[in-house]
Amino acid sequence: MNLVHESAIEQLRQKGYKITPQRQEILKTLEAAPGPQSVEDIHRQIAERYPNMSMDTVYRNIAVLLELGIVSKLNFQDGKNRFEINCAGKHHHHLVCLTCGLSEAVEICPFNTLDQQRIAREKKFEITGHSFEIFGHCAKCREKYKL
Ligand SMILES: [Zn+2]
Ligand SMILES: [Zn+2]
Repeated sequence: MNLVHESAIEQLRQKGYKITPQRQEILKTLEAAPGPQSVEDIHRQIAERYPNMSMDTVYRNIAVLLELGIVSKLNFQDGKNRFEINCAGKHHHHLVCLTCGLSEAVEICPFNTLDQQRIAREKKFEITGHSFEIFGHCAKCREKYKL
């Protein structure tokens, strides 16, 4: 168990949610993943160990984790939502390759704090998060397909 996992569990507990084995498994899978995962990806990995866990269970639990802000949802424009654990203090965005689907985290954020505060003030809107993905072609694909 690492810190990210512990803090996710702590958040569930504080908000009165049960730490079910299903939720634990989803969190573990997302932590071990090299990048953001779709519900299908998560389900496939968990099903190797727990063949009884349905896709629907994964969906429902991801929805809870999303609602609590423990995971974030990313849209890589291929019609599939992907999810990753929010790690406190490690805010980042992703480079997404449109050819092979590779996603890589980059620790930059174009949304600066002052803009955020201004929008919040002007629109009387409580900002709880944002998403920003950078699309293009990765080095491997550029080489391979001469992009
Ligand atoms: Zn690629
Ligand atoms: Zn950002």
